[in-house]
Amino acid sequence: MYEIPDWHELIWDKGDFSRIPEKTLQAFREQAAYRRPVQLGMSFYVCGADTPGAFLPCRIPLDRRMTCPMHGVVEDGLLPSPRGGQKAPAPYEAVLQELGSAPDAAAFDQAAAEQLWLHRVRQDINDGQYLERLTRRHLDYESMREREKMYEIVQGAGGSGDGGIDVVAETHTGRTLAFQCKHYAEPVTAATMKVFHYDTTLGWENTAVWRKHHQQRARHRVFITTSEFTAPAREVAEASGIHLLEGTRLTVWFGYGLPLHQVLRIPADRW
Ligand SMILES: [Zn+2]
Repeated sequence: MYEIPDWHELIWDKGDFSRIPEKTLQAFREQAAYRRPVQLGMSFYVCGADTPGAFLPCRIPLDRRMTCPMHGVVEDGLLPSPRGGQKAPAPYEAVLQELGSAPDAAAFDQAAAEQLWLHRVRQDINDGQYLERLTRRHLDYESMREREKMYEIVQGAGGSGDGGIDVVAETHTGRTLAFQCKHYAEPVTAATMKVFHYDTTLGWENTAVWRKHHQQRARHRVFITTSEFTAPAREVAEASGIHLLEGTRLTVWFGYGLPLHQVLRIPADRW
């Protein structure tokens, strides 16, 4: 297995593509050309598959099942094999199809998709605000793309949280959205989901956000995780109308920069 030392330091810690030696880039491309997971450092693998519009092969760190949220299982150098003569779509292609969206390949933001999964290798899952920061940033990106202020972050822009909710945003039409962002190593449980439900219903009525912003409950509630949800957690979410955002769909939101309501399959007039 080929090793590329210090790769992650250059890209991920310093964010500087220009400082990667051409020899290192070449080695990475050659390895990825065989569509094998590429080992970086001593202990982790990145995907190595191609994404249209991306400058380099995919560098999303694989999970324990050797799965990339964009490209699926890449174990043993094999991407999903053709079935019935037809190549199965990669997970991200399936999500894009489901969303009825064919974004311009040039719009794919490789760094954003990769950064989302960084914690797998940096083991900084104890940085409780990592996913929260990315979420806020992508709400701001949407405003930049639409050339209109789509969201105002009214809570979660630094400082202490109020009422246990990570991010509260107000849409340009004056509606309130509540986000909970967890990147535990363990799956999100029903108990955690119930706490979010309480914090955004009865619990919310004691917060400053409630008093300052129209004294109305959130129009939509979104639970975001880079881990996964247990089946009971999903049941709680479904019963209380909480939207879930994880895995491939979350990566597509960050990578392709689609409007959040589209990613959640909520019609624009109901957002
Ligand atoms: Zn990948």
